[in-house]
Amino acid sequence: MEAALRSMFQSLAKNASANKLAKKYGLHFGARRFVAGETIANAIECVKALNAKKIAATLDHLGEFVFTEEEAKQSADMCLLTLDHIYLAKVESHLSVKLTSLGLDINKELCIDNMRAILDRAKKYHNFVRIDMEDFLHCEAAIEIYEELRQKYDNVGLVIQAYLYRTEEDMKRLHQIKANLRLVKGAYKESPNVAFPEKSDVDKNFCKIIKMHLLNENYTAIATHDEKIIDFAKDLVSEHHIAADMFEFQMLYGICVDLQNKLVDEGYKVRVYVPYGVDWFGYFMRRLAERPANIWFVVKNLFK
Ligand SMILES: Cc1cc2nc3c(=O)[nH]c(=O)nc-3n(C[C@H](O)[C@H](O)[C@H](O)COP(=O)(O)OP(=O)(O)OC[C@H]3O[C@@H](n4cnc5c(N)ncnc54)[C@H](O)[C@@H]3O)c2cc1C
Repeated sequence: MEAALRSMFQSLAKNASANKLAKKYGLHFGARRFVAGETIANAIECVKALNAKKIAATLDHLGEFVFTEEEAKQSADMCLLTLDHIYLAKVESHLSVKLTSLGLDINKELCIDNMRAILDRAKKYHNFVRIDMEDFLHCEAAIEIYEELRQKYDNVGLVIQAYLYRTEEDMKRLHQIKANLRLVKGAYKESPNVAFPEKSDVDKNFCKIIKMHLLNENYTAIATHDEKIIDFAKDLVSEHHIAADMFEFQMLYGICVDLQNKLVDEGYKVRVYVPYGVDWFGYFMRRLAERPANIWFVVKNLFK
């Protein structure tokens, strides 16, 4: 039952018609728990509230299904605007971006040009941009683009997913350019030909790559709500005397808030990923897929 629900939510996340419909009707079904709001003003308010609790943020302007150069350009403009607002509001927040929303499926060069414009703007504000990792089909292109951008920019990071078989080799490759990585388990529906189907294997690989990247003296964002993985990372940094400015914990907006606060109280750097925008449906479906028990949360909100 749980696997079927997971698969259904992962498929819905990629369904263009469902996304279009959701966009038209606004933030509903309890999505507000996971999404800061539809406007940049909502997003900045949310970041201010996090910063007041000593939690940093990374803002993501949600955007899926970009099919034209014009749409990719609009998406890049929203990223620039988000950077402007972060600067003007003097809040502590990075920016997270998705390469498909910047035109990766249309033209790789267009996507790189959009990234360059975003990184130049971020550099002007001494800010940092992280490239989210999408499904397996976009993984190699994302790494290649990151390698190219890294030649000129030091304010850019990438995400790597523990569930992919290729990840260990990718980590060795990315160590060559001292990549700043966010490590995650992985949120997309992938075939067992490319990704570990068993959660225990994903968790094992997650610990392995956290250790690899930290001991290779690279900046590591450990992005998880899994307390066992967090405890593993805490023990590792303590045992190997890893400096506090070489790693941080990251979590998603609205998930495990008590754990976020507890880590801050313990003195760790914590950053929360804050998505906003009208294109919230795909993101929301991926959050439901991670924890199908969240479906009850949706049902409750249907009757509100
Ligand atoms: C900051 C951040 C950025 C991310 N960026 C990417 C990315 O670029 N690409 C990508 O593929 N994935 C990304 N992810 C998602 C990630 O891949 C996982 O799907 C997600 O974090 C759930 O896995 P987990 O590590 O928390 O462990 P799990 O074992 O899935 O969860 C551990 C515990 O956390 C809680 N939990 C986890 N998810 C939820 C949820 N949705 N609702 C309620 N409780 C929950 C539950 O208590 C669960 O028992 C990101 C995650 C974070 C935290």
